[in-house]
Amino acid sequence: DGGKRPDYLAGLNPEQTEAVETLEGPVLVLAGAGTGKTRVLTTRIAHILNTGRAFPSQILAVTFTNKAAREMKERIALLVGGAVEGMPWLGTFHSIGVKLLRRHGELVGLRSDFTILDTDDVVRLIKQLIQAEGLDDKRWPAKQFAGMIDTWKNKGLGPADIPEGDARAFANGRGRDLYFAYQARLTTLNACDFGDLLMHPIAIFRKNPDLLKEYHGRFRYILVDEYQDTNTAQYMWLRLLAQRAKGEPQNVCCVGDDDQSIYGWRGAEVDNILRFEKDFPGAKVIKLERNYRSTEHILGAAAHLIAHNEGRLGKTLFTDRSDPDDVKVQVHASWDSEEEARAIGEEIEQLQRNKHLLNDMAILVRASFQMREFEDRFVTLGLNYRVIGGPRFYERLEIRDAMAYFRLVAQASDDLAFERIINTPKRGLGDTTVRALHDYARARDIPMLAAAADIIETDELKPKARKALFDVIQSFRRWQELLENTPHTELAEQILEESGYTDMWKNDKSAEAPGRLENLKELIRSMESFESMRGFLEHVSLVMDAETNENLDAVSIMTLHSAKGLEFDTVFLPGWEEGLFPHQRSLDESGRAGLEEERRLAYVGITRAKHRCHIWFVSNRRIHGLWQSTLPSRFLDELPETHVEVAEMEQSYGGYGRGGYGQSRFDKAEPFANSYSTPGWKRAQANKTDATRDNWGSRSGHAVERIGYGESGPKGRTIEGE
Ligand code: ATP
Ligand code: MG
Repeated sequence: DGGKRPDYLAGLNPEQTEAVETLEGPVLVLAGAGTGKTRVLTTRIAHILNTGRAFPSQILAVTFTNKAAREMKERIALLVGGAVEGMPWLGTFHSIGVKLLRRHGELVGLRSDFTILDTDDVVRLIKQLIQAEGLDDKRWPAKQFAGMIDTWKNKGLGPADIPEGDARAFANGRGRDLYFAYQARLTTLNACDFGDLLMHPIAIFRKNPDLLKEYHGRFRYILVDEYQDTNTAQYMWLRLLAQRAKGEPQNVCCVGDDDQSIYGWRGAEVDNILRFEKDFPGAKVIKLERNYRSTEHILGAAAHLIAHNEGRLGKTLFTDRSDPDDVKVQVHASWDSEEEARAIGEEIEQLQRNKHLLNDMAILVRASFQMREFEDRFVTLGLNYRVIGGPRFYERLEIRDAMAYFRLVAQASDDLAFERIINTPKRGLGDTTVRALHDYARARDIPMLAAAADIIETDELKPKARKALFDVIQSFRRWQELLENTPHTELAEQILEESGYTDMWKNDKSAEAPGRLENLKELIRSMESFESMRGFLEHVSLVMDAETNENLDAVSIMTLHSAKGLEFDTVFLPGWEEGLFPHQRSLDESGRAGLEEERRLAYVGITRAKHRCHIWFVSNRRIHGLWQSTLPSRFLDELPETHVEVAEMEQSYGGYGRGGYGQSRFDKAEPFANSYSTPGWKRAQANKTDATRDNWGSRSGHAVERIGYGESGPKGRTIEGE
């Protein structure tokens, strides 16, 4: 037609182009890491918009994290020249679920200002229910039941759908009743849990075919990234929206990689990939085989490792990227995790001296406890870092308390928040008062804060408690009035001051108190990027990524799980030891399947790297407070010799070289082959352990050299939630 082919299509390979241009009918893109799946989705959206096939509001696009959604939005704007105003339906399954519920919650008995409970609230609530049933909550722990409910919800099972056997598993067969009671209680509280963000929309669409039809009309195009990690509930949700009557357009495009399915433990069903072709007959399946991200060495190492898995759909991957400067994947060893953090810190500083940006580096850990060591080290070095993923920051006690205050100000019927802080700090409103309030509120079916306001007019409480309660209520009234017109960060500070909460920690003499006060400051800082208190609360309840100062050059620290979809120039993978990685728990609980999922996680880790990948293991690790000597991960033995080399040990041993011990078995002078086979690693490791012991004394000398850096402190530190 003589029209110029838009620039955004120009750089794509033929398979990618096909995936972008096949806009009619179901499409499944099944391809390995770094082959441009996400890029295809983004370009596809740009193409839809650019060719005028749909408005932004007519596209439903699902990403795995909120961060990924933000990035996708930015990319699309770039591709179409910044003309997109918003993409209201681009987000995670959960955030889209919230949006649907805010609109149609009344169809499942929720008002539009419903609260989203976090895990902690859920456990407290369930504990109350268990006790109310007269059950022993030690024998039947609330936490366990919360886990069961979550599993059921991931499978799309409501209380009525619970199979007999499952229901019997808890509280002598009363699991099902408890589940019913739990849902009823949530409705009373005008609240829902995380799983409900999927379950309620499913119920709404099932019960209201007309509404579903309306959404069929609205969503002309549906796209899903990281499809391999959808769980059953998400799949049901998706199928409801995507499966159309015969003859109606069914434009759904899912992209995924079975080798990167790493959320099986959270209910993800990699089989959804296989189901797709059944549920969407005539689906076009497109494979992408060219990797654009990583060097040949990195790709070769990852491909060789993942080939050890049996349950695979199998695919080819190749890269054209090869440069004489490319380095092999490096394997390093350290004595313990402190040494490991120090050695990685040095490696990072070295890269920095060579003009590499910290933003291009990431440390990906198997378990979040590993992070602390790096955080401590980087604070000492004055190296900027940010922790990404996981609700770590918001899970801290002081943050939860502060959030409970804010929640109650924003939502007066939030009883769980009320109970959490009514006597924190101590105001003489102990259990007796709380119980009286609880009973009063339940009898009248009103929130506890309202009950408190009523009860002080009576003589049900002792004068002292009455006075204390009166003061608290006055404060809350004042804060509620300020909510609309006071800047929310100012109000937040005021709440923490006036409630006595900040003072509580100022007067606390424990070692943690100063850190807690700092965290509270950090909390206020993190609110700055939101427009309102409500916006902030919603963000936190979704455990979204807290705002990051994008301008700050910083190393990213995160779990392997949250690194999915991301890429970095240099990737550090610490802690490759048996028991930690593969993780003992997944081996114990899921055997071979567990091991394969761990291996996929290792594959995800390595394939995040573009140019440099450093793998580390230590010979001693403190796990649950106990020192344990460790064995190198079996995954190290599964790496191909051609693409991997053992790094110089000198640095990571702090004085190893200077101690005059000479060459180690791990030294470059020694061919990798010697330590390659399983016994080799173990033998080498045994030697190394002895060697390090001999040189233990020189460690402290090394540490002293570093002390000067401590003064500068961290230049910046940002924390993100998942
Ligand atoms: P993952 O499985 O890790 O999520 P992916 O398949 O989604 O990976 P992308 O993140 O979309 O891969 O792409 C990997 C990298 O390759 C990105 O930096 C992307 O910009 C680049 N890339 C993808 N396709 C092309 C192309 N045709 N030309 C140049 N670069 C490309
Ligand atoms: Mg991707």
